[in-house]
Amino acid sequence: KNVLVIGSGGREHAITWKISQSPLVKSIYAAPGSYAIQQVAKAQNVDLNVKDFKAISKFCKDNQVSLVIVGPEDPLANGIADALTHDGVPVFGPPKDGARIEYDKDWAKAFMDKHGIPTARWKSFKNGNEAKKFINSADFPALVVKASGLAAGKGVVVAASKQEACAAVDEIQSRFGTAGETVVIEELLTGEEVSVLAFCDGNTVKPMLPAQDHKRIFDNDKGPNTGGMGAYCPCPLLDPPQLDFVKKNVLQRAVEGFKKDKIKFVGVLYAGLMLTPGGPKVLEFNCRFGDPETEVILPLLDSDLYTVMSACCTGSLDKVDLCWKSGLHAVGVVMASRGYPETSSKGQVITRIDDVNVRTNHVVFHCGTALKDKLVTNGGRVLIAVALAPQLALAAAQATKACDVIQFDGKQFRRDIAQKGISRAIL
Ligand code: ATP
Repeated sequence: KNVLVIGSGGREHAITWKISQSPLVKSIYAAPGSYAIQQVAKAQNVDLNVKDFKAISKFCKDNQVSLVIVGPEDPLANGIADALTHDGVPVFGPPKDGARIEYDKDWAKAFMDKHGIPTARWKSFKNGNEAKKFINSADFPALVVKASGLAAGKGVVVAASKQEACAAVDEIQSRFGTAGETVVIEELLTGEEVSVLAFCDGNTVKPMLPAQDHKRIFDNDKGPNTGGMGAYCPCPLLDPPQLDFVKKNVLQRAVEGFKKDKIKFVGVLYAGLMLTPGGPKVLEFNCRFGDPETEVILPLLDSDLYTVMSACCTGSLDKVDLCWKSGLHAVGVVMASRGYPETSSKGQVITRIDDVNVRTNHVVFHCGTALKDKLVTNGGRVLIAVALAPQLALAAAQATKACDVIQFDGKQFRRDIAQKGISRAIL
């Protein structure tokens, strides 16, 4: 079988690495792919314009591609799955109206209310003055202001006062163009954040092991938000009864909701949750694999990824068992370049990755690297070092140690990835 992966980051590297282990898979094409993806067995980059759905569809027919896996949200929001499905090409990723759960927060909140999915109380506004009036009269003391559209994680302001929330309305409406036209105002929730990703075939939903991301740049969750500085899996902060609750009241309700709304949601449904004192509540849904969660979830998956994803495309996920490597923990520590997240430097020579890759139960995924004469940094997030071990603390120590070994000028990484899970395990 031949597969096409759309994307080029650490998430797509991990997807390619895992699916390449399937005995069913003969060739993997990646568009645009990356230097690192090209190094994976059976994989090669192909020169395709990922915005040209007709060209992708033709490529798939010419090369007998039986599965297209879409990594990032943008192509899904632009309708890649609709176009490929129309041409008879199986695609792992939802149609545009399903991707709306991620690219339109106003719609997503209404969807959650309509289908009884627990989430923060909210209201949305197009008119900035009305938004501010609401903020000043709202009975919740602290508020979160969000751009309704896609803003690469930068369209959310957690406001400490009503004044700050009002200023955030102006800022979002002037800064994000159409993505910030509508603002969503939410009550502030407190608790730990956990991600639960699930495979969906439009009918059946099967959750993956829970994971926890670390969004802030510095240790102890200090400093500005980033694309994610590390993750670990499974996350023990969500206990089995809570996971059951999430399965029933979040994931299953969402899939039922999609069905009622005549949306065929195939792909990954990602629930970003806050574990509040009143139970888990949804902060956001994404319509695809999370990055860096994928890099710690997929190494623990025992099942054949091609089989699971194909079953999603053919509506037969109920016939597939999702199996996990039992007794193992995965921790991934992201190495970012100097200046990230405000700026990022490129072109720094990277050394000693192989010293880590040869260690058992270690794998390094590339988020932003390029091959010039030598391997160099090529973006904000550069690499993620993943270690698997029977204890979470050992996996964390090994992944952190790997970041000490790998060298490039200006590298920055956190030394406390998985610490919350480790503390919980000790308690
Ligand atoms: P990303 O895609 O990067 O996760 P996003 O732009 O889709 O971000 P959200 O996930 O909705 O935005 O929010 C980003 C972060 O803001 C959350 O991970 C959480 O830390 C915080 N946040 C969002 N909503 C709330 C809320 N109601 N209460 C408390 N914190 C919140």
